[in-house]
Amino acid sequence: MKRKRKKRRLRLRYEGVKFITYFLAVLFLIIYTITNSIKAYNHYQYTKTDEYKIQTMGYSLEETKDLLKIMTKDIKEFLLTTPKEDIYYTITKQKYFLAKNYLEYIEYQKSHQDTSLNEIIALVNTHASDGWYNNTYKTDLSKNEQILVNKFYQLDENFKRDDLINIPLMYSYSGNMASQEVINNYIEMHKKVKEELGITLMVNSSFRTYQDQEEIYKQFSSKGKEYADSYAARPGFSEHQTGLAIDITSTANPTSNAFKESNEYTWLKEHCHEYGFIHRYPEGKENITGYNTESWHFRYVGKKIATQIYNEGITFDEYYAYYIEK
Ligand SMILES: [Zn+2]
Repeated sequence: MKRKRKKRRLRLRYEGVKFITYFLAVLFLIIYTITNSIKAYNHYQYTKTDEYKIQTMGYSLEETKDLLKIMTKDIKEFLLTTPKEDIYYTITKQKYFLAKNYLEYIEYQKSHQDTSLNEIIALVNTHASDGWYNNTYKTDLSKNEQILVNKFYQLDENFKRDDLINIPLMYSYSGNMASQEVINNYIEMHKKVKEELGITLMVNSSFRTYQDQEEIYKQFSSKGKEYADSYAARPGFSEHQTGLAIDITSTANPTSNAFKESNEYTWLKEHCHEYGFIHRYPEGKENITGYNTESWHFRYVGKKIATQIYNEGITFDEYYAYYIEK
C-alpha cells in the first residue's frame, strides 16, 4: 500500500517536471521568436535612416554622425549618389567650414586639386572663387562698423555716414574726413607711435565719395581695366566710402616704398588691432582680398573684432563670411 502511493507520487512528480520542461521550452521559443522579430524589425527600420544609408557609402559611423550634423537635402543627395572620397568628409572638419557652401567647395576642388582645403574654404566663403566683380551684392548697412565693402559687396552711390568729421591737421594732411570713432582711435594710436618710435603718422586719404572714387578709378583705367582693378576699387566698391578706412603714412617715410620698409609699418601691423584697426590688404592674402598688399590702408572694425582678426590671421572678408554673415 505504502509502496503503491510512493510510486504514484513519483509518477506525478515526473509528469510535473515534464510539463514544466515543455512549458519552459515553448516559452523560450516564443521569447526567442519575438526578440528576433523585434531585432529584425528594428534593423529594417534602421536601414531606412540616413545614418544607415550614409554608412553604406563607406563612411564610418563616427564620420556619418558628423555628416548628419551638416546634412541638408542637397548634401544628402550628393553623398548618397557619389562614391566616397576622403575630402567629402575631411573638408567638413576644417576651420571656417560652412555647411551652406559644402557643394560649392566640392565643385571648386574638382577643378583646383592642388589648392589646400583651407584655401578653398576661404575662397568660396568670401566669393573670391566667383571671380572679381562677377557676382555683386548690396552690402548690409545695418552692420555699421562691421560693414563689408569689397569686390563683391557694394555701397549705393549716395551712401555717406552721418558722423563724418575732419581729421585734425596735427594728425592728417588736409581735406580728410572719417567717422568720429575712427578718428578718436586713430589719435590714440598716433600718440602711441609718437611715444614709442618718435614717428609722426599722417593720414593721406580717408573718406571718399562715390564720385571721388569714380575719378580715381578712371585715372588708373588709362593703363587698362586689369591694372585699374588691381590698384583701385570701382566706384561703390571702395572701403573709403564707408568713412571707416584710412590710408596712413608718416612724415619720416612719406612715400609708399619707404613706408613699406619702415618700423612704423611693422609696429602698425602688430598693434593696430589694439586701437580697433586691421591691416586690410595683407601680404599673401591677395587672392582673398583682390588687392595687392597695401601697406598704408587700415580699416576700423572695433577693438574686439580687430583683435580676433589679428589673432586668427584672417582677412576681414573671411571674418565677415564666417562670423557675421553666416
Ligand atoms: Zn586705402
